[in-house]
Amino acid sequence: MPIPSRRRRHGPARRRRGLPLRLAGGALALALIAVVAGPAVRTPLVPDGLADAARAMGPLPACRYDDVLTSPRSYGHWAVTLVDTILRVPRTYEPPDLVSVSQAGIEGSGKVRQVMIVDLAALAEAAREAGAGLGVQSAYRSYDKQRATFRDWVARYGREEALRFSARPGHSEHQLGVAVDFRSESGGSPFEGDWGETKAGTWMAANAWQYGFVMSYPKGKLAVTCYEYESWHFRYVGRELAGAMHDSGQTVREFLWANFTTAVVPPPSGAPLPTYAPTESAVPSDPATASPEVTPDPTPAPTPAPTASPEPTASPSPPAPEPSPPPVGSPVGAISPEAAAVGIGVILALIAAVALVARRGWFGAVL
Ligand SMILES: [Zn+2]
Repeated sequence: MPIPSRRRRHGPARRRRGLPLRLAGGALALALIAVVAGPAVRTPLVPDGLADAARAMGPLPACRYDDVLTSPRSYGHWAVTLVDTILRVPRTYEPPDLVSVSQAGIEGSGKVRQVMIVDLAALAEAAREAGAGLGVQSAYRSYDKQRATFRDWVARYGREEALRFSARPGHSEHQLGVAVDFRSESGGSPFEGDWGETKAGTWMAANAWQYGFVMSYPKGKLAVTCYEYESWHFRYVGRELAGAMHDSGQTVREFLWANFTTAVVPPPSGAPLPTYAPTESAVPSDPATASPEVTPDPTPAPTPAPTASPEPTASPSPPAPEPSPPPVGSPVGAISPEAAAVGIGVILALIAAVALVARRGWFGAVL
C-alpha cells in the first residue's frame, strides 16, 4: 500500500531527519562562507607596531610587470609600503602632509611628506658640512603626473624603451612622497654622467642611511630591485629602519618584502603586459624583446637583456628620472590561485546543495 508507506517515511522519519538536515545546511553555509572568505582570511593584516608587522610572505617575486595593489599602504605605513614593477598604490594615493622641501633648508623644489622634513634638514646640513652640498632634483609625483611622464617617454622612445627607465603610474616611489632624486647643491642634472662618483653622490652613498635615507636601486642589484642603478634616488624610511636595512645588506625591496609586505603576488600567467600608454601595437608587448625602432638616441643600441640576468653593465643609461625595469617574465592578468580555489569551492558547494535538494524536498526541512 503506497500511501501508508509514504506516510511512514515522511511522517516521523521526517522529524528525525530534520536535525541532521539542518546541521548539514548549516555546515554547507559555513563551508561556503569559509571558501568565499578564504583569501581575505589568509591575508594577514599589518598591525600598527612595526615589530608586530614583520612577517615573510614567501620568496621575493622575480622581476616582472604586474598591477597588484600593495599592502600595507595606509598613509601611516609610509615607511614599509613597497612599490615595485609588480606592486602599486592606487591612483588616489596622495599623502595628506606634503610640504615643500624648502622647509628642510635644501636647494631645489618639490614636495615631500612632513614626517621626513627634520631628517632631510639634518641630511642636508651634514652633507653641506662635509663639502658635499645637496639639492633636490625631483620629489613627490602624483599618479597623474607619473602617468603623463610615462606617456611622454613612451611617445618619445616607444613603450619598450620607456619601460626601461620610467615607472608606470602607481608604481613609483615618488608617489609615496618619501622619495627624492638628489642633485649636487651647485646644480646640474644628476642624470647626466655618474652622479654616484661626485662628491655629493659619494657622500650620500656612504652616509645617507644614518639620516634615514636608503638608495633604492643600488649598483649591481638589478636582479632583485628590478631597476637599473640610480645613484640619485633615495627613499626615506626613518633612521631605525634605514639602519636595519643597512645592516642587513638588503635592498629596500628585499627588506620590505621579507619583513613587512603582506600583499599576495600571484604567479605569472603569461598574459600580455597591462596597457597604460598609447598603443604600441608594432611589438607584441614582450619586454624581453628589445625594441628595434627606438628613436634617434645618442646611446648605443640597447642590449636585449635576458630574463633575470645580472645588470647589463654596458647598457645605455638613458637620462631619465625614473628607474628602468628589467625585461623579465610576464605579467599576470588572469586568475589567481585564491580566486580559482574560491571558484572551485563555490561550484562544489553548489553541486552538494543541488544533490541534497534533489535527494529530497529539502527546502521545507531547512527553511
Ligand atoms: Zn627617482
